Amino acid sequence: MRVEWTFDDGVWRLAFLLHPEDETVGLCADGQRLELRTNSCRVKLPKEAGKPYVHPDLLAVAAWTVVAPWTRRRVTFDRPISADLAEALRTGWGVDAGPVGEDRREGARLAISYSGGADSAAVADIFPDAPFVHFQRVSHPRVPNRWTHYRSDVLARLARRTGRELTIVQSDLEFVLSFPRPGFPEHHAVAAGALLLADELDLGGLALGYELGSRWLGGDRYVHRYSPENPMWAADGAWGRLFAAAGLPIVLPVGGVSEAVTMRIALASDLREQVRWCLRGSGDGPCGECDKCLYKELIQAAVERRPLRTTITAGRGIARKWQQPPPYGGQEMIEYGCAHVPGIETTPFAKAAEYLQATVESTRWLEHCYPPAIEEIPERWRKRVDTYMVDSVGLMDGDEAHRVETWGT
Ligand SMILES: [Zn+2]
Repeated sequence: MRVEWTFDDGVWRLAFLLHPEDETVGLCADGQRLELRTNSCRVKLPKEAGKPYVHPDLLAVAAWTVVAPWTRRRVTFDRPISADLAEALRTGWGVDAGPVGEDRREGARLAISYSGGADSAAVADIFPDAPFVHFQRVSHPRVPNRWTHYRSDVLARLARRTGRELTIVQSDLEFVLSFPRPGFPEHHAVAAGALLLADELDLGGLALGYELGSRWLGGDRYVHRYSPENPMWAADGAWGRLFAAAGLPIVLPVGGVSEAVTMRIALASDLREQVRWCLRGSGDGPCGECDKCLYKELIQAAVERRPLRTTITAGRGIARKWQQPPPYGGQEMIEYGCAHVPGIETTPFAKAAEYLQATVESTRWLEHCYPPAIEEIPERWRKRVDTYMVDSVGLMDGDEAHRVETWGT
């Protein structure tokens, strides 16, 4: 893959050309098959950013979050990168990367990749002074937008209302792939804006809202088992080493806690009014009709120990998967919900509850923090997370940690 960045009037444009051995169908790090649709995309920075200096390693990592699924043996950047970055690409992906000839970069501050959902709101509560970088999807000039129900404008507006130091970065990079739908080519592409702004904002770390399930339990699409080596989110995994080599290590402040904990923190935080996990709802509120709304309502009802509030019935299409036997994506939270929501037998989760037989006792580990997740946090920010988790959440004991480490076996 040959990649080239150009900058004009506040907009970084990435163009890439496939080498003969590259293919237009590839797999991203979580195993999803992706089809390439077009070979350019843009990342628009806010006007006041001007033409910032951007270290070539940051440009290279931002490009790699877009082109990695379709690159086979080598990647050629348009300016020299550091030897450390080339080494991280070689050991992580087996690709030859170059040219090499730049020094390593460093930065100081921690920024939060803020989506507006409960997980990133929980991260914001742990680091109340950290600036936000919000990724906003915009249409691609060469790809028709058939996904107008995705209200990225509403999410950006809610992010603005948080009152936090905020940079909104607009990008059409999700449209470079056509299958299964527009989306991040790699999950890490959400960081493209933060990468391009890292020198301007003096960033030395990027906090993301990936929680226990995504980091340690195999997540939704990846594998359904204990995954300490998770290549996407382990600090010493391929992506973790790549971001660290660019002087912007990934920080997962809520990597040790479940979505029940992030939900509880988010709803008790001063960002409560701006929290929104639904991608479809208007300015008035979440849609209440989508997959995500149903899943998150189960978690919220469980956290609040109240009956489920939904008009969705077991016969509806989006409730179909909960009528089947497990495994389920995010199964630990389905167990938690089934164990804590009163009257679960009258909800679309009745069948799942029968299959799972979860109890308050069997799901207690999901209310505490898995200590190895704190150990993974770069030293500069570890103490803050440790103190927060000890004071506000509580650490898992040995039996509870054992539940994490035997998940899916
Ligand atoms: Zn919704």
